[in-house]
Formats: sequence, C-alpha cells, structure tokens
Amino acid sequence: MTQVLTDLTIAEAQAGLRDKRFSAEELALAHLHAIETLNPRLNAYLSVGHAQAVEQARAADRALAEGDTRPLLGIPLAIKDLFCTLGVRTTAGSKMLMPFIPPYESTVTANLLRDGAVFLGKANMDEFAMGSSNMTSHFGPVENPWKRRRDESAVLVPGGSSGGSAAAVAARLAMGATGTDTGGSIRQPASFCGLVGVKPTYGRCSRWGVIAFASSLDHPGPFARTVRDTAILLNSMAGHDPKDSTSADVAVPDFEKACERSVKGLRIGVPREYRSDGMPGEIEALWQQGIAWLKAAGAEIVDVSLPHTKYGLGTYYIVAPAEASSNLARYDGVRFGRRENGEDLRDLYERTRAEGFGPEVRRRIMIGTYVLSAGYYDAFYLRAQKVRALILRDFDEAFQRVDALLTPTAPSAAFALGEKMDDPIKMYLNDVFTVPANLAGVPAASVPAGLDSNGLPLGLQVITRSFDEETMFAVSAALERAAGFSALPTLRAGA
Ligand code: GLN
Repeated sequence: MTQVLTDLTIAEAQAGLRDKRFSAEELALAHLHAIETLNPRLNAYLSVGHAQAVEQARAADRALAEGDTRPLLGIPLAIKDLFCTLGVRTTAGSKMLMPFIPPYESTVTANLLRDGAVFLGKANMDEFAMGSSNMTSHFGPVENPWKRRRDESAVLVPGGSSGGSAAAVAARLAMGATGTDTGGSIRQPASFCGLVGVKPTYGRCSRWGVIAFASSLDHPGPFARTVRDTAILLNSMAGHDPKDSTSADVAVPDFEKACERSVKGLRIGVPREYRSDGMPGEIEALWQQGIAWLKAAGAEIVDVSLPHTKYGLGTYYIVAPAEASSNLARYDGVRFGRRENGEDLRDLYERTRAEGFGPEVRRRIMIGTYVLSAGYYDAFYLRAQKVRALILRDFDEAFQRVDALLTPTAPSAAFALGEKMDDPIKMYLNDVFTVPANLAGVPAASVPAGLDSNGLPLGLQVITRSFDEETMFAVSAALERAAGFSALPTLRAGA
C-alpha cells in the first residue's frame, strides 16, 4: 500500500481521499517513510516536519469525514526553503539564515494551508536561489533521482535553484512542491527531473514572505508530475494579495479546466532565434517532434522572430545581480539571521557578510554593486533596463500573431555534479531559453517530452501572453498527451 500511495498523482489522491480508499494520515506516513529511506542520499529536504505533517493530515481526515471539499485536503507537499513558514526554520539555502525562524507564513504557503495541504518539509535549494544546479546550497548538493543509462554511478544535478523541490517530487517524496523562478529555477529543474514546472505571470502569485532574490524577476510557482496537478496547485497558490504591491488584482480562472481545452485552431509560434548555434541535435529533434505533435492536434505553426533574444542572458545577469545586491544588503548581522561580532559596527558587518554568504552569492553582490555604482550605472544597469523593454516588446509583437510559443526548456539534459562549477559563465548559459520569459513577466511552463540518448528527461517550454495561463495549460496538456511520457527515475519510493 505504502508504495502505491506515493505513486499517485494529486488528482488521483483527491479522489481516493474523498472515496475513503485511504486516509490523509496514511498518505502522509507513506511519504514520510519514503523520505526517511531516500532523503539521506538525495538531500532533497533540509528539514522534515514529521509531527506537524501528521497533525495536519489528521486534521484533514477529520475535515474530510465532515464532508469538507477544500481542494488540497490531505495532499502532501514539499516547500522550497525560500518560502517563510511560521515557526519553521527557513534558510534560503544559506548559512546566513541558519538561525532564522520566521514569525509569519508567506502568502503562497498560507493559501496552500488554507486549502488543506499537508507540509512534509522544507526543500533544499541553491543559496538565495542563485544557481542552476543546486550546487551552491550551503547544505550540500541534491542528487537527481534520474541516472544515465550507461553510467549509473554518475551523480547528476537536479537543476536549480529549486533542485530539492524537483528531486523530492520526482523521487515520490512529495506529490507536488513550491518553487520560485527568477531566471528558470522552476522550469529548468522540472526539465532535468522529468516533471511539469510552471512559472505563472509576474504578479499572479504573491511574493510576500518569499525571501527576495531579484524582486522584479521572482515568480513563485508549482512543480508536479502532471500538467493537471500543477494547475490544481496554481489555483490555490495564486490570487491578489494587498501585502505585495506588485500582486495583480485579477481573477484566478479555473486552470484545471483549462487543461481540457482543445488546441485546435491555436496559433503556435516557433521563435527562430532560439535555434542557437551548437544546440545539441537531440534537443533540436525533440523540438521538431513537439511542433509535429501540436500540428497533429490541430494547431497552426507559425515562424516568429524575437530579435532581442540574444541579449536576454546579458540583460538578466545585470538586472538580477543589481536587485540582489540591494535585497541582500539587509543581511548585516543586526536585523536578520547570523551575526559575527567585530571590533566595531563596520567590522561586524564585514565579518557577518564574509562568513554568512557563499562564493556565488558574493559574486552576484559584487557584480550588482558594480553595475549600480555611479560611474557604471548608465553603461550597464540603465542600458540593461532599456534592452529589457525591447525584449518585452518582442513578446508583445509575437503575441499579436500567435497564441503561444514553443521552445526547448534548457540546452542540455541534467549534467554531472561538479560540472560547470569552475566556470560561472558556462553555468549561466544554461538559462538561455528560460530568462526571456522572466524579463518579460509572461507565463511559461516546462513539460517532460522525451528522453535523450542517456535516458535522461528533456522538457519543452510553452510561453503565452501575460495572464493567459489557460492557453499555457491547454498547450502543455496537449504536449503531455502526445508525448505520453511514462519513464521513471531510478531512485524513487518503492523502486
Ligand atoms: N539560474 C539562474 C540564476 O542563477 C536562475 C535562478 C532562479 O531562477 N532563481 O540566477
């Protein structure tokens, strides 16, 4: 029984709980057992709230017995350790926040709890969400539960920065998870771990209580094993929040229902600039396959141009560090988290920040401080803001002609632990297909679509107009149906 329960989708678990085929407590215990077995190896969770999860599950069982119909009653989830959770240590993957116990709950996690979810624990991540591999976490890397067919011994990264969330859901240590996506941190790990990952429109999910990396680019969103499950989760996570000034005051449509919409007659754009030189043949082939699937489902394929795509990465790696350097100024040893005492106040600041931040975070703060400094502001930051406006205009123009865009999610499958760590630029290049949607704020999803020759999952990305997640879900569900992706990771509960 235990093994079967962890394989269910959220939609299946909802039905099973409603029909009393199993209890929320059994469902939670099955996952907690799986975590005990596999987490020492995967390192996907930084902390597990065993007692709290059981308590929440029992409360869900009582509510279910009374006929309560809240959508997430008893559904066990992992929460990225960037979301503040009331009374539960929240570290952002950093030594700096090791002593931090938030006195409040983030809006997104509060929404999930409101709808009855059970929180299993806090998921590992790159430090302050800076990274594409989960290797920058102060608490050590996360192992991707997928293995190369020919080299089972190689340890692969789950992607990042939401690597713990992705590994947990792929290995069946949670039915779904929250993530955040500033430049690809939901979509790229989803692609590396064979999951669906959704970055909604900027402002769709509140950032309140989510530890800030780059405020104009940070997007909370869900991970799950099916498109429909991500729609169920986003329906709970989304919604206007007066506590976040950039939260959008727009209605939240029924995303689950949107998954059933036909794509017949939709116009799907294929942006020619994403056909970068040196794109691996397998990724190009999968992209062509995706185009063919949507065509067969009745969509019309249109060649489009996003001419400023080539400036996306450069723009992102100016804007994101600039905002990060400002956001992370608050960690001074006085107000939050860790403190290293010094000779005087200045010495205290310097020691605290030198001790508390890892190398990638320090690198970003230095870049950000540099591009914002008086002599260089015009040449870098201001210029990047102008290019960002051009990138946004590219999307606006494309969406006058098409309803959705189809691209690969990442230029590679999961790579090996340690790879690219000596060369930050190489690591940054992994974000080439994901950052434009963050700069423009438009919704984008990654859907598992196939395997590479090593047997590793590859994702396709669907991008739509702002606040048109419904089309994004419809196209994603059509790809999911056509791909029939059913491969399983090697390391998973019950395997
Ligand atoms: N990999 C990108 C970075 O390192 C994106 C991270 C993210 O989306 N949080 O900045």
